[in-house]
Amino acid sequence: MTTPVVNDQLARPLQDLRISIMDRCNFRCTYCMPKEIFGDDHVFLPEEELLSFEEITRAAEQFAALGVKKIRLTGGEPLLRKDVPTLIASLTNIDGIEDIALTTNAVMLPKQAKPLYEAGLERVNVSLDALDTEVFQEMSGRKTKPDAVLSGIDAATEAGLGVKVNMVVRKGVNDQEVIPMARYCKEKGLTLRFIEFMDVGQTNGWDFSQVVSKKELHERVSQIAPLEALEPNYFGEVASRYRYVNSDVEIGFISSVTETFCSSCTRARLSADGKLFTCLFSETGSDLRTIMRNGATDARIREWISAIWEKREDRYSELRTEESARHRKKIEMSYIGG
Ligand code: SAM
Ligand code: SF4
Ligand code: SF4
Repeated sequence: MTTPVVNDQLARPLQDLRISIMDRCNFRCTYCMPKEIFGDDHVFLPEEELLSFEEITRAAEQFAALGVKKIRLTGGEPLLRKDVPTLIASLTNIDGIEDIALTTNAVMLPKQAKPLYEAGLERVNVSLDALDTEVFQEMSGRKTKPDAVLSGIDAATEAGLGVKVNMVVRKGVNDQEVIPMARYCKEKGLTLRFIEFMDVGQTNGWDFSQVVSKKELHERVSQIAPLEALEPNYFGEVASRYRYVNSDVEIGFISSVTETFCSSCTRARLSADGKLFTCLFSETGSDLRTIMRNGATDARIREWISAIWEKREDRYSELRTEESARHRKKIEMSYIGG
């Protein structure tokens, strides 16, 4: 039976769970894992520290019993973990889970899209920040070509997966790619979502001057064709949705910096080593792995999660300043999962 947990402070129900299943990545995106910091000698989590698939499934069952309906697998790069279809198959069997998605850089999708779909995955969000090879390589920190991502997108579509494309826009680095990306996605019938560059972690050198705002992105894309606003699909949806007039193709804006949405934030996050975070910009998490490995009952785990959710006060993006962005000891995006 489901017992929904609501955070009374801002009336935010616990609805979504993002699970990072791998802290490593085959890319080094400038805005997420800059290669100057995440070099070849960087130490990632040892395997025994990662939650096993059984632990992830057990945790997800408790979240579902507390009202979570949507699960997103992320990372690091989630498809670097072996046998992800096996995990998907277990998660799809959980009562109350209505939607399972995965965020990926798509490089492994040509091999994995079909088994993922067959295991029950319905959709993927693919990160792609540029079509131009040089700009793509600068953003992703690797010599991989954007064609590898485009092949991943095609493989996902052919396998039957729904595909949305995420583009992080960093002023002066890839903002000249906004229009080419929008045209490409419009032609392919793909939803493109622009994400404002955020100050997650402590390593990406963020400041306000590098953010291209939703307003500006909207103005630029409107040059292709006028846009009309759409109603949100559900409470807490992070992207504001639009459609090109006289077309079915949608476009979205995730305006985490210039139009914040903390008051409807329904997302909990579980890191690859089982720490629970109630905000992307948290400094510390609460250790669910130890509780599970020490033999807590399911009921005890649910009480523990509820207590944390009910007292959360997070609204970092509403309060963000240059000062907090620089000095707060926020955990890295690749660890907590996007
Ligand atoms: N590796 C996968 C990928 O790139 O899709 C999944 C993990 S990645 C951390 C999840 C999402 O976070 C991606 O869409 C990525 O673009 C986004 N992201 C990472 N760092 C970001 C930042 N500083 N600002 C905005 N979005 C960011
Ligand atoms: Fe890897 Fe995704 Fe971070 Fe890029 S955004 S470094 S692909 S985890
Ligand atoms: Fe949610 Fe924290 Fe982002 Fe606000 S800043 S929307 S509370 S994750």
